[in-house]
Amino acid sequence: MARTVVVTGSTSGIGLGIARAFAAEGANVVINGFGKADEIEAARADLDTLGAGTVLYHGADMTKPEEIADLIDTAVKAFGTVDVLVNNAGIQHVAKIEDFPIEKWDQLIAILLSSAFHTMRNTIPLMKKTGKGRIINVASAHALVASPYKSAYVAAKHGILGLTKTAALELAEFGITVNAICPGYVLTPLVEKQIPDTARERGISEEAVKTDVMLRLQATKQFVSIEEVAATALYLASDAARQITGTHISIDGGWTAQ
Ligand code: NAD
Repeated sequence: MARTVVVTGSTSGIGLGIARAFAAEGANVVINGFGKADEIEAARADLDTLGAGTVLYHGADMTKPEEIADLIDTAVKAFGTVDVLVNNAGIQHVAKIEDFPIEKWDQLIAILLSSAFHTMRNTIPLMKKTGKGRIINVASAHALVASPYKSAYVAAKHGILGLTKTAALELAEFGITVNAICPGYVLTPLVEKQIPDTARERGISEEAVKTDVMLRLQATKQFVSIEEVAATALYLASDAARQITGTHISIDGGWTAQ
């Protein structure tokens, strides 16, 4: 039977790539995220053609617990359960701590950290019932190391690793694994948008942000690709990964080796 996969924040970037990879292997997929309605529908329809499964869209806002509950409910009503949950939605804000807008801090923590608690609390009972499940949290190299001007992002990403480990211990005997993926820089809209802000905060050019900030510590001097992150998610969701739980896989071109 086809697996059912929910990927938060999958109208763009890494989430869309992960949804694409699961759809291509025949899963039913619920995509989620913001964007223009016609563009989202085009992406959904495109994913729907890739494999034997069905692809649905749900527009839950990851800052709203009741909408998150409805996202999981929708997957259950359409497909019976959730086999794989990918917590991926994210935004970034770059500013010094003393200038960091309070509402931005709250929004980043809600989307990057609390939303995973809400998706998990709604999904875990379903996975316990079927005796299997995979929870994959898209964290970041910033779950392991910090960078200046990204206080909320770094705090939330470090937090999600703690949530990953706790959930893994709670669920280890139920056939459910919980892991995080820690990518380095991937050229997605989230990264493109922070280039001008980082240039301003550091007083350097936008090109220098790419070479001297983003790729400085990435030893390969290359951006990570969306497909590479998606392949890691597929692996963590495979039977071969059943003994991998409560940990993270770094895919950061050597960044956190130093
Ligand atoms: P992106 O901007 O391309 O995609 C983010 C997705 O999240 C979009 O679909 C967007 O609509 C959705 N989203 C934003 N706010 C939302 C909300 N309130 N409710 C529901 N959906 C919402 O960004 P991306 O780079 O693909 O980032 C995806 C994840 O990967 C994030 O968690 C990010 O922190 C992580 N990540 C990205 C990089 C990178 O370099 N791009 C590196 C490490 C980790």
